[in-house]
Amino acid sequence: MANETTAQVNPSKDHKSEFDALVVGAGFAGLYQLHCLRDRLGLSVKVLEAGGGVGGTWYWNRYPGARCDSESHVYWYTFSPELMREWEWSERYPGQAEILRYLNFVADRFDLRKDIQLDTRVVAATYDAAANRWRVRTEAGQTFTAKFLITAVGCLSTANVPNIPGLEDFAGEWYHTGQWPHEGVDFTGKRVGMIGTGSTGIQAAPVIAASAEHLTVFQRTANYSVPARNAPLTAEFLRYVKDNTGEIRAITHETLNGMGFRIEERLAVETHPDDRESLYEAAWERGGLQFRAVFQDMLTDKKANDTAADFIKRKIRSIVTDPEKAAILSDIDHPYAAKRPPIDTDYFETYNRPNVSLVDLRQAPIERISRVGIRTTEAEYPVDVIVFATGFDAMTGPTLRMNISGRDGLTLKDAWGAGPVTYLGLQVAGFPNLFTITGPGSPSVLTNMPVAIEQHVDWITDCIKYLNQKGLDRVEARADAADRWVAEVNEMANKTVFPLATHSWYLGANIPGKPRVFMPYAGGMVRYRQICAEVAAGGYEGFTLS
Ligand code: NAP
Repeated sequence: MANETTAQVNPSKDHKSEFDALVVGAGFAGLYQLHCLRDRLGLSVKVLEAGGGVGGTWYWNRYPGARCDSESHVYWYTFSPELMREWEWSERYPGQAEILRYLNFVADRFDLRKDIQLDTRVVAATYDAAANRWRVRTEAGQTFTAKFLITAVGCLSTANVPNIPGLEDFAGEWYHTGQWPHEGVDFTGKRVGMIGTGSTGIQAAPVIAASAEHLTVFQRTANYSVPARNAPLTAEFLRYVKDNTGEIRAITHETLNGMGFRIEERLAVETHPDDRESLYEAAWERGGLQFRAVFQDMLTDKKANDTAADFIKRKIRSIVTDPEKAAILSDIDHPYAAKRPPIDTDYFETYNRPNVSLVDLRQAPIERISRVGIRTTEAEYPVDVIVFATGFDAMTGPTLRMNISGRDGLTLKDAWGAGPVTYLGLQVAGFPNLFTITGPGSPSVLTNMPVAIEQHVDWITDCIKYLNQKGLDRVEARADAADRWVAEVNEMANKTVFPLATHSWYLGANIPGKPRVFMPYAGGMVRYRQICAEVAAGGYEGFTLS
């Protein structure tokens, strides 16, 4: 089995600079895109990757407790039944190190490394209309050109370190969870301050608290969480996976979020309160994101959502023994799952440890970081280490920072000045032959990511194949099609409770100055897959092919 050491070798030795396609990013998306274009279409392809190894999200996010919230038997590629049978997961939810091993295994299994250049950050990409080529510049000053440019940069890869005054004066160490040191951080005997209680902070807190002298969690917005109930996989389950690869793939193609579970048909608002309570209780015991599947109307009817929200808030108050902490943790201001719902291992239980305290930033916001710690408007908290579990400039951040300019000098920054405008989350008008894997306007972060990624990569591969077969050179989303798509994205979001969480990163609200637009497509993976298939079958409606 491959291990991560092999990933540290940069095997891309050739000095060629002209390719059929350039792919930016070597995570789940980039690896599969390389395989499809090179091995299925026979194109020349180069992948440029900023990290020192493959793995994307799982290369960077090495914070304590980092683990996927999708269950392992659906959090992988399903394009190859052989690959599904060759790899064995060890736990119900795969941990960061295991996923990174898996992606390295895939890179070796499909001989991908030779076409990946590591430690290579793209700093500019410009479309040359006369030559119909993308010219891509790297931080080290290298230039590459290609007919097709495909961004596989992930939705959550631009770390957001909030601009809190005084950080430069802090005498201790500080880290963002999405840029965690490879050698790890030893918290033994240290006082740790962690800012942020999203999925990341909720995973990290219990693990940090287990070794730190003291952990102080700085919470701005209280959050829901449901127990993950992680456990080793049994031999019987592993056998089931090997024997049912086709069925597992099929389920992820039939479910709203590309998950391995189906959402029940029943409605919370029509279920007797006693039955509802039993159903929630059973889902709490089973654990995981599947909690969302208890009722059909949970994310579309606020009254239904209130029943789930109320259940979880009561659970929090029953777990956390200190009434003051329990009140702060359960004072949640948004509907359940309107922000990405975390799952956890002993998160709320962690607040019962004597070495863990909680600061309510809504009561007293952070004023500054001092030489010795974190100062709120009410008190100073001396710490040796600050952990920023403060999230990402999501969805648009990673693409925008590549400084992309399209036809007639139009920059992506300008094109998206009022929020991202895409057609199907796959293309942007004015940017011919540029594809954005799991871009804004696609289901992406509302789904089990590998499923969304495989669908996008397959669609892009088929589109390029179609162009080549027809002797065409260029595909570009039409502006009117993109406008119609944005209307569809808004319409779908407005049918759900998502927009009620006005501070969520789905809306860009976590980044000061970022336009507030609901970015992912909330119409579900099944509907989305069908729309994309129909567009392709209709000769790529909404795109100009030339
Ligand atoms: P996040 O959900 O954006 O949470 C960031 C946290 O930091 C929030 O509690 C936020 O508070 C707080 N924060 C941000 N700026 C702050 C400031 N200036 N002062 C005080 N608090 C501040 O980020 P994340 O937890 O890293 O998760 C991002 C996404 O990554 C998740 O939603 C999920 O999609 C993915 N993820 C997945 C997994 C998994 O599968 N296991 C694990 C981790 C992350 P507010 O809520 O008040 O803004």
